Amino acid sequence: MNEFQRISRLIAAHKGGARSLVEKLDARGHRHLSFSKIACVESCPYSYFLQYVKREELDPQPAYFVKGRVFHRAAASFYRRVARGQRPAATDLGTITRRPDDIVAECHLRNAAEVLAQNAFEGWEVLGVEDIFVLDLGRGLPPCVGVIDLVLRQGSTYAVVDHKTGKDFWRQDPMQLAIYREHVLREHGATKVQGYFDAYRWVNDLRRIRKPAFERTRVRLSSRSWAKAQRRFEAGYKAIKEVERAGEKSPGTGSCWMCAWKGVCKKAHDLSWW
Ligand code: SF4
Repeated sequence: MNEFQRISRLIAAHKGGARSLVEKLDARGHRHLSFSKIACVESCPYSYFLQYVKREELDPQPAYFVKGRVFHRAAASFYRRVARGQRPAATDLGTITRRPDDIVAECHLRNAAEVLAQNAFEGWEVLGVEDIFVLDLGRGLPPCVGVIDLVLRQGSTYAVVDHKTGKDFWRQDPMQLAIYREHVLREHGATKVQGYFDAYRWVNDLRRIRKPAFERTRVRLSSRSWAKAQRRFEAGYKAIKEVERAGEKSPGTGSCWMCAWKGVCKKAHDLSWW
């Protein structure tokens, strides 16, 4: 049995979420890649070293990490209800979005839940919510593990959706959706797969905003997108092996001012003028 088959079996038997699965894979020494790992090593090898080799934890976790995770839980709960034929309202997510310890975060989350309910995909069958998958990359590479926020179908057309949250709308990396598309092509025998980024902007008051709180971007995907993703997997895996070899000596080359690790990273560039 190869690594892809072993991880497939683990996923089939796994009862929890993506985080606990990754912990299980790491604890059992199952080597795997992911979109996040590739994006991380590309942006800063030292950041890869901190997160995936040294396994440092940020304590406390940045507020935006926590808020993003809560929103993903709310969106998953929302679309699971849709899959059961219900028509959920934003208020149904109140118990998830409640943050008595952080009133501003609660306000942002409540508004994002309202925007989610207003912009939910209509006329699509919900096939998967937080769908954990493993993809055989061949070419001597470890398999790729990922989780798709939402998988939809409308007739013979499929769609993969990734939710983003933040203070603003950022340019997203199409590689993530190219990976999801490849999985759906193989898993469902699909021929048409659309890819979407649903981006939610944190806002205090939905009635007083000057720019939208939500943006849905459809990303055009093709076999060329997958070929490009494969090339990045190859180069990224090479870079990962280099970080594993170099350890602490890995170069810190990222945009430190926007890096979550800048507070603990001894290689952070001078940030005093920010
Ligand atoms: S603070 Fe800078 S050098 Fe350190 S991990 Fe982040 S991007 Fe890399």
